[in-house]
Amino acid sequence: MIITETETITYEKEVENVTSIICDFCHKDLTDDFKISNGQGTVRIGFGYGSGFDGDSFALEICDDCFLKHFGRLLDKQFMERDMKMDMLRAKIEELENEK
Ligand SMILES: [Zn+2]
Repeated sequence: MIITETETITYEKEVENVTSIICDFCHKDLTDDFKISNGQGTVRIGFGYGSGFDGDSFALEICDDCFLKHFGRLLDKQFMERDMKMDMLRAKIEELENEK
């Protein structure tokens, strides 16, 4: 036989809330964009064992402009030809590359 009784337990739990997001590439504050879930992403890089980073992984926050500026041409070769937005994205990549 199992006899039970109800007990109320109150405890503290520490939670982590995101208060701001900064682009790791240009240091732009993306907090307002984040609130509407637009204009920001995360670049995750995982290196294999035996590489110079030997299994390490990294996560960097990145804004839309920096993503296109640093990775746009790589995506152009792999994915973007299938995307109807390609012309718009190519124009944006060229605009960002010409900025100094
Ligand atoms: Zn940026």
